[in-house]
Amino acid sequence: MSTKITSIRAREILSAGAYPTIETTMTLEDGSVGKASVPFGSSAGTHEAIVVSDGDESRYHGKGMLTAINNVNNIISNQVIGMDALDQKAIDSKLNELDNTPKKEMLGGNSVLSVSLATIRAAANSRKIPLYKQILDAYQLENDITEFPKPMMVLIEGGAHADNSTDFQEYLITIDLDAKTSDRIRAGIEIYHSLAKILKNEGYSTNVGLEGAFAPSGIDSNHKPLEYLRQAITDSGYTPGDDIGLALDVAASEFYENGSYHLKLENREMSVDELMQYYSKMIQEYPIVSVEDMFDEDDWDAWFRFNQELGENIMVVGDDLTVTQYDRLKKAFELNTVDSLIIKPNQVGTLSELMDTVDLANTNKFKSIVSHRGGGETTDTFIADLAVAVQAAYIKTGPSRGERVVKYNRLMEIAEELGF
Ligand code: PGA
Ligand code: ZN
Repeated sequence: MSTKITSIRAREILSAGAYPTIETTMTLEDGSVGKASVPFGSSAGTHEAIVVSDGDESRYHGKGMLTAINNVNNIISNQVIGMDALDQKAIDSKLNELDNTPKKEMLGGNSVLSVSLATIRAAANSRKIPLYKQILDAYQLENDITEFPKPMMVLIEGGAHADNSTDFQEYLITIDLDAKTSDRIRAGIEIYHSLAKILKNEGYSTNVGLEGAFAPSGIDSNHKPLEYLRQAITDSGYTPGDDIGLALDVAASEFYENGSYHLKLENREMSVDELMQYYSKMIQEYPIVSVEDMFDEDDWDAWFRFNQELGENIMVVGDDLTVTQYDRLKKAFELNTVDSLIIKPNQVGTLSELMDTVDLANTNKFKSIVSHRGGGETTDTFIADLAVAVQAAYIKTGPSRGERVVKYNRLMEIAEELGF
């Protein structure tokens, strides 16, 4: 019995953000099944692959997935059925042939990715090997994993992820503790609970936002979360900056308008110069080790300045800037704007394109951070296997909410298997 694809079926499922997304099931001739669901973000970058949704207001306020599902069931499947699921590159090339636009505007990044990821899972299941191993084999990568991804954990969220909170989207910790993966995750969770106590004492609610981090409503400063995080790290018995670093995902494109940055908590519009100074002060005052999307996704000059003036000892991370795409990362590299990047499969659309981007990153010694999505995550654990396979420096997700913790739980399972 072969690994030939015999059926591909897409369905509408609910995402963690309560709007639907797509899940695709692929069956092979030998009976093996691969299933994948695709997340979407709440602060998606302009340059990323698009999410096709129906726009039919009578269903799910226009966010139904019937068009995307039809694209899989009636367009993609006709072309892909009969191909060999072990040949991931050939299947992804076929998907790119069917939609060769950079942003997958014809079929949708969501439709295309669901098939790409169902393929790698079906192949892993057929061979009865773990998913991360099948990713390594499909791209002829070294099977010897030497660097295991460390957790990067969102602990406070604002911006587009929470109402009435900070301008910045995420305050995170990098867990650099020299310890086993399960102990690293335990450290993150202990800090999360210490942080809850601090926020309660300060009179904030400890309700969580879209990514399972605290979303303190009414907070009046973009600095304060850094103070609280540093305190929570110390309260938990760890050393800020050494064991545990602070990180920011500003998601600045969300508050960039007409050439300036509108910080509502500061009640001011900032120029690049002013925002640079603002960051400079934060970096001096707090043990910040990583800053993501600190300027708008097309403000290349500002990125260059940041990287030159403040980037020496921290990770300068592209997300909306680089959108997991080879050409954007190449430009970011040539313009000397980043040294690290976020990897999100649905920003690019196929696993093979993602692997090309990772390859470029590795060649240039950039650090990769494999990441969850904001609003429309699913319970799929694919990114944990991916982070291990590409030997990412970090895996970024949240400390609570089922769709987040399944990723860390899968990471701990793999870590146990591989002895990390
Ligand atoms: P998202 O944002 O809501 O677009 O997924 C998450 C992030 O910026 O890292
Ligand atoms: Zn981001």
